Amino acid sequence: MSTASFDLLPSTNPAADAVRDNILAAPGFGQHFTDHMAHVRWTLDAGWHGHEVRPYGPLTLDPAAAVLHYAQEIFEGIKAYRHADGSVWTFRPEKNAERFRRSARRLALPELSDEDFIGSIKALLAQDHAWVPTPQSAADECSLYLRPFMIASEKFLGVRPAREVDYYVIASPAAAYFKGGIEPVSIWLSQHYKRAAPGGTGFAKCGGNYAASLAAQKEASDNGCGQVAFLDAAENKWIEELGGMNLFFVYKDGRIATPRLTDTILEGVTRDSVLTLAKDEGLTPEERPISIDEWREGAASGEITEIFACGTAAVITPVGELVTEEGPIRLAAKSDNEVAKRLRTKLLDLQYGRSEDKYGWLTRLV
Ligand SMILES: *Cc1c(COP(=O)(O)O)cnc(C)c1O
Repeated sequence: MSTASFDLLPSTNPAADAVRDNILAAPGFGQHFTDHMAHVRWTLDAGWHGHEVRPYGPLTLDPAAAVLHYAQEIFEGIKAYRHADGSVWTFRPEKNAERFRRSARRLALPELSDEDFIGSIKALLAQDHAWVPTPQSAADECSLYLRPFMIASEKFLGVRPAREVDYYVIASPAAAYFKGGIEPVSIWLSQHYKRAAPGGTGFAKCGGNYAASLAAQKEASDNGCGQVAFLDAAENKWIEELGGMNLFFVYKDGRIATPRLTDTILEGVTRDSVLTLAKDEGLTPEERPISIDEWREGAASGEITEIFACGTAAVITPVGELVTEEGPIRLAAKSDNEVAKRLRTKLLDLQYGRSEDKYGWLTRLV
């Protein structure tokens, strides 16, 4: 596999060591960005070209750029983890690269190869590796969050796929996503807003899906909830996922179920990893339709003993209650979330190089 080489245009005012150290001591999430960004340009005539790593900074876009009007945009989310020996690794990047191409096809954007996707991350990290925080303990989930994205930058107001596109990767040092750590979150059930419809873009990771989820997210926070759960658009009955995380249900007989993939569910890399790790833990993973009635009845009867959400940003987070217009749905017995905690530790130990990488899920970046 040949690796496209990225030209380097170094930043003339990178953050001073003391400034960076200060940020890394308490990075929050998605607030600070590194000194550089990776960029590759695409045109219909020339294909992908102009691979570069250049100073992080504002983009110059024509006000008529297609992305600003018709939201022809996709993105990814993936992390870089510092191991105890100082080396820096990422987790299953070929899964993100593959999903990025799936998203690109749905949004009529050009497909980026594995080598350009992974190469862009490696090229950025070659410059900005000092921004990957060092965990102070196994409980310290700091990382460098990477955000690859692709936008239709062509200047025109007609409606058709753009013939000029730009791809970027930016990076942001991150502490744990939820301040409460593994405290259970309350979730709001969106009863009239839908995230995705059959034949739509639900399976693609695109900004438009998030734009459509924000009114529901606002409703959730108005009702004291941190996240929102969506039902399917066709029958208003089947559990799909949260705005940006997949859902799992743990049963008292050792089954662990997640909604079966359809074109209205985003296929999480964390979801897929949890299915594999659950089997290693002696659990029985299931991918099948799960209805809101099953949630309500299973919670009341004690059949369901834990519920958790998962995604790259927040890893695995227990769900405390589902708040609905008819009142809250809570588990019959207060859960210690033992399975969620166990799977979370397994996953983090793998990502931070504290356990054997028996599936070959890690790729070294630096
Ligand atoms: C990104 C995302 C997820 C989680 O995917 P991971 O690959 O595990 O980070 C789940 N649902 C939606 C809607 C997402 O955008």
